[in-house]
Amino acid sequence: MVEVLNARKQQVWEKGKDQYTLVCEKPSTAGSVSQRACVFCGSRVVLYPIADALHLIHGPIGCAAYTWELRGSLSSGPELHRLSFSTDLREQEVIYGGEKKLYTALSELIPVYKPKAAFVYGTCIIGLIGDDVAAVCRRVQKEQGIPVLPVHSEGFKGTKKDGYKAACEAAFTLMGKDQLSPVSPFSINILGEFNLAGETWIIKDYYHRMGIEVTACLTGDGRVAELGKAHRARLNVVQCAGSMTYLAKMMQETYGIPFIRVSYFGIEDMTKALYDVAEFFQDQRITHQTQELVREEVSRLLPRLGEYRKALEGKKAAVYVGGSFKAFSMVKALRHIGMETVVVGSQTGSPEDYEYLKEITHEGTIILDDTNPLELSGFILEKGADILIGGVKERPIAYKMGIGFCDHNHERKEALAGYAGMGNFAQEVYTSVSSPVWKYSPARQAAAAKAAQAAVPERAVTDRVEPGVPA
Ligand code: SF4
Repeated sequence: MVEVLNARKQQVWEKGKDQYTLVCEKPSTAGSVSQRACVFCGSRVVLYPIADALHLIHGPIGCAAYTWELRGSLSSGPELHRLSFSTDLREQEVIYGGEKKLYTALSELIPVYKPKAAFVYGTCIIGLIGDDVAAVCRRVQKEQGIPVLPVHSEGFKGTKKDGYKAACEAAFTLMGKDQLSPVSPFSINILGEFNLAGETWIIKDYYHRMGIEVTACLTGDGRVAELGKAHRARLNVVQCAGSMTYLAKMMQETYGIPFIRVSYFGIEDMTKALYDVAEFFQDQRITHQTQELVREEVSRLLPRLGEYRKALEGKKAAVYVGGSFKAFSMVKALRHIGMETVVVGSQTGSPEDYEYLKEITHEGTIILDDTNPLELSGFILEKGADILIGGVKERPIAYKMGIGFCDHNHERKEALAGYAGMGNFAQEVYTSVSSPVWKYSPARQAAAAKAAQAAVPERAVTDRVEPGVPA
């Protein structure tokens, strides 16, 4: 029986058993040790891939260290985003204010690094001491002649989702500047795609082959100038709904650009993402080129997946990710390789997201909102998952439990989006699930010893430790 804190009881739901509506979108329960990141981290992950901007973290050094290189976002040009600048506030500034230090930092950094814009992230302590970050930004913007944007992301002031909003507001202020450069009538912006391990390039290639121009990608391999003309694209395609739906709505209200939600993970969702865009433009040539592309990519991928499916059939997975859109795709992608999702959850899912998860999962699946390590590991054990798919904070949980792990979060260095990414995902899941290393983990050895003591046939334990290997 997994222990769940009273205050969190309705954030845990089992399909086929629980009747209540899953509660979500609320601040984390005190003492629960949430897997969620703070508001500042939410902003940082969204804006981080803008590669020609200066990212200055106004606060103590820890906030900058904690988010340094936090995304595996690649750039085809400048790499200024990979540096983590901080005002490194100390006791003196906490008492007397940090505006002077912020002004000095910006005035020194901008002439040296020559960024196209600067983002200044406010952290917890800034909210407490009350620095007027916006005023300093306005002053430096005037003096240095580039956009200098405050990102109001004090860590304590909400959930990670509030950080996404603060980032969207900052990105939005860079739009509408470029009215002149040519934009195709078949143009889209990709919102919520962060070029982890080059995924933006994979997706852009698909659109290019369909005859679609990508005016701006927010924010993968992002450039300040691209944002300046994003308001002139015909359609916004939102991949990470949790982080970018807010921006898509702002752009719809201000510039009249409609948006659709897509996912680039797994065969079904990737294909749907391409067809939905083709359908929007209602152009025969685009439709035909999309069909050709899908046929070519899927026929190349399916035989490879078939091999992994033979080895993974009947295995079980637990999925815990930041946004629910990814969880949907994971459930479907795992089904393609013969695996059942027995535990699934997210940090920032909405009521609609969880309703959809309930629809697509099997009876007995545990759905978790804003979980903690104790609950997560308890349900993984209870449901007998062979692998955990999550991010950097979930990795140690899987390793301590002696089960496979697949990194599907923003630190990863392997492309998992698109058809090629689906092949990589299947390979990674197979490699991890079937690794012989897990039988040496203390957790597995303790479980084996306990099973032996209880006179459970040893064969059953061995079977779980060493999953099948393809012929
Ligand atoms: S919670 Fe506050 S102090 Fe901690 S990293 Fe976030 S902004 Fe910094």
